[in-house]
Amino acid sequence: MITRRQRPKRLVSELFRIASFTLVVSLLTLFIFFVVSTIDLAESTLKKDLQALALVLGSQSEAALVFNDTRQATENLTAARFRDGIQNACLYQPDKRLFAAYISEGASPCPQIFEMKTAGHQTPEEILYTGTISNSGENIGYVSILASTAPSKKVIYGAFARFAGAFTIIAVFAYLLLRNRLQKALSPLQNLETTAKDIATNPLSNRRAETISQNNEISVLVDVFNNMLDTLREENGRLLASEERFRSLAENAPIGIYELDPEFNFTYTNRYWSKITQIDNPENLEELVKLSGLPDKQTHYSFFEKAKSNTASRQLEYHIRTSTNNEYRHLIEQVSPVFTIDNDETSRLTGYIGSLLDLTDLKKAQAELEDMAYCCPLTQLPNRRYLFENLESLLQQARREAYGLAVVMLDLDHFKKVNDTLGHEAGDEMLVEISNRLRKVVSRRDLVCRLGGDEFLIILNQIDSEQEISSVTDRILATVRKSLDLRDRKIDPSCSLGVARYPDNGISTTELMRNADLALYASKDQGKDRVVFFSSDLANTASERVELERKLKRAINSNLLSFHVQPKICLNTWKVVSVEVLMRWEDDVDGMIPPDKFIPVAEETGLILPLGEWLLDSVFSSMAEYRKNISEAGIQSFAINLSARQFYDKNLLNIMNSKLDKHQVDAQMIEFELTESSLIENIDSTISVMHSFKDAGCKISIDDFGTGYSSLSYLKQLPIDVLKIDRSFISDIPQDENDMEISSAIIAMAHKLGISVIAEGTETPEQIAFLKEQHCEFAQGYLISKPIPLEELLDSINEINQRCSAISEQIRFSQEKSAIAKD
Ligand code: C2E
Ligand code: CA
Ligand code: CA
Repeated sequence: MITRRQRPKRLVSELFRIASFTLVVSLLTLFIFFVVSTIDLAESTLKKDLQALALVLGSQSEAALVFNDTRQATENLTAARFRDGIQNACLYQPDKRLFAAYISEGASPCPQIFEMKTAGHQTPEEILYTGTISNSGENIGYVSILASTAPSKKVIYGAFARFAGAFTIIAVFAYLLLRNRLQKALSPLQNLETTAKDIATNPLSNRRAETISQNNEISVLVDVFNNMLDTLREENGRLLASEERFRSLAENAPIGIYELDPEFNFTYTNRYWSKITQIDNPENLEELVKLSGLPDKQTHYSFFEKAKSNTASRQLEYHIRTSTNNEYRHLIEQVSPVFTIDNDETSRLTGYIGSLLDLTDLKKAQAELEDMAYCCPLTQLPNRRYLFENLESLLQQARREAYGLAVVMLDLDHFKKVNDTLGHEAGDEMLVEISNRLRKVVSRRDLVCRLGGDEFLIILNQIDSEQEISSVTDRILATVRKSLDLRDRKIDPSCSLGVARYPDNGISTTELMRNADLALYASKDQGKDRVVFFSSDLANTASERVELERKLKRAINSNLLSFHVQPKICLNTWKVVSVEVLMRWEDDVDGMIPPDKFIPVAEETGLILPLGEWLLDSVFSSMAEYRKNISEAGIQSFAINLSARQFYDKNLLNIMNSKLDKHQVDAQMIEFELTESSLIENIDSTISVMHSFKDAGCKISIDDFGTGYSSLSYLKQLPIDVLKIDRSFISDIPQDENDMEISSAIIAMAHKLGISVIAEGTETPEQIAFLKEQHCEFAQGYLISKPIPLEELLDSINEINQRCSAISEQIRFSQEKSAIAKD
């Protein structure tokens, strides 16, 4: 910075001073030289004049000397008066005695005796010339002339005065010219200086130094300077833009950003920083520590102190309570020291730059996730995972302290029906209510978990006798049985309980869980709403299942399986139009084993696939064998049940096609019955598999409709031909109005989607009458015929059709009767 005191001497003045000095010195030198040479010249001229005068006077006076004519000599000497400044002119005889003299007025007289002096002997005021007068080499006398130097001095002084005047004029003129020239030459430099000053205070100014027309160093300097300014301005602009970008980035960043100086004073905090800390414009770290309620101030200070001695950035995780609303915040802070390299190449700490990340929400979410991992979000009960991670330690404790423990498995009865009829939200409400009841009914040391769906598990801790356990399980049954209101409907819930005891029924988690599950299974099997304690019998039942599987494998291989058919009639023509194929297993030891018993085992074990393949072959073979009779009986299709596992098996279509080929059976005669629940898996693959069967020519019907997730939007997307209303909705017609409503709603809905409807399990003419009234197209059930072997059906087809006509007559008759009664 240029201060006033240090203000530099102006260059133009400096140059001017130097030039003036040079001028004056050279003029003076010239002047002195001139003066000296003028005086010199005047002196030598005077001397020469005197010499010439002496010569002239001498030669003129030769005769007078020879003839001793003093008068003539004096007259001759008087001619000296014409020369200015002559004091006297003296003529001497050879014996050096004065002969004649001319003495100017007031001047000193001639000496009487001649004395030879050096030519031009001189005092400041006078100059004397002495000489010898000779004739033909003989000395005839002497002459001396004394002249005053005053006249020549006068001439010299006059010349001095003229020269001095001329010099002064020249000097003044030269001065002015010099000044003008210098000013002109240096004015671009002055302009450069003011421009530079201006730019120093305002770097983005548009001002530029004035360019000059001359092509010299200064014009080059100005151009270079201006170019430099342009570059500077451009770079400054870029720098500003980039700074603005970073500032805006920092200002709007979703993390807190701050800067501190080396003394921990805040020099910058962004918006988010203030949002996190709830502090606006803090002064320094101390204020922040005070305002933010940092629990460990010392750690925070030493964090910054350590950052100072470390070039790498440091991280600190901590929490604060905001001063404004006392909010808890979990933060992670990262700080890096900022060093600046000085001119002497040493680095110097100029501050700190840091960021602050608010992890509060993340930590909350993490905690929630952790909770969720161990807790059922609906009922707030511990979940299966929690149970598995804790049951082991409960068992260990029981082992150590030698007390008993009971694992109670609970399953709500008919929960699926609640879900299906009242919706999932109502189902959820029920689960929450039951959970609360269970929580209340057990003691503090016990544990209630929700395993999933409507399954719960209760650990009764420190309990030994079956009696004690029974009293708790009775309380559980009782509390669950209390009725509850759901969607304006009164529900009477109940549950099935299976109990396994430690250490009697098992000592490991898996053993106890498996045995409690077996007991629960038995409880359901025995009619639900009860408690079953695990026993070795139950274990036997389980092993029976294993035995069943073994036997089923054998049955498939030894051809012990067969199928029956059950007719389906058309409610318009009252004739059999198709049949449903139902598998039968006649064991040589155990007799007839119902499909409800072996199909689930086959599904579980995967045996359903070879079983299904066998059935297709067997059915198609019979269809081929009785082709004519089937056609005469008016049977247009055979409905085959498929379980989910079969339906999604990629080989099924190929197997079916090859079997159809083998037996020359038309695919149009095949219909597949699929239960709703087996289709939920994946809508896209369901649609594509269904289409592949439809493309092959088969029909598709939905079995047990109403018991699964009967979503209309779901059905709309599927290429379905027939809906089969589940037996459970038919059996209570006409007593249960609700069932009637559901049935008529299903029929109406199916018709809207262009799907025909069949009712299964029809056992009374009233049921058929109701279904007919609702425009249900088909019916199937014991009233028409039980499932029977195909040959038997073909033999008795006329009988069955007659029975159907009789049913129709009966219905018409009773309808007419009730119409008359009404009238
Ligand atoms: P489903 O497909 O619902 O078959 C109808 C069941 O209801 C048959 O029992 C039939 O005998 C019975 N039923 C028919 N009409 C009436 C009636 O009026 N009243 C009563 N109470 N019951 C009636 P079934 O033959 O014991 O079959 C039971 C289940 O076994 C079948 O239910 C089906 O899910 C399964 N199943 C049978 N055969 C096969 C098969 O070949 N493959 C597969 N995957 N499942 C099969
Ligand atoms: Ca069926
Ligand atoms: Ca069914």
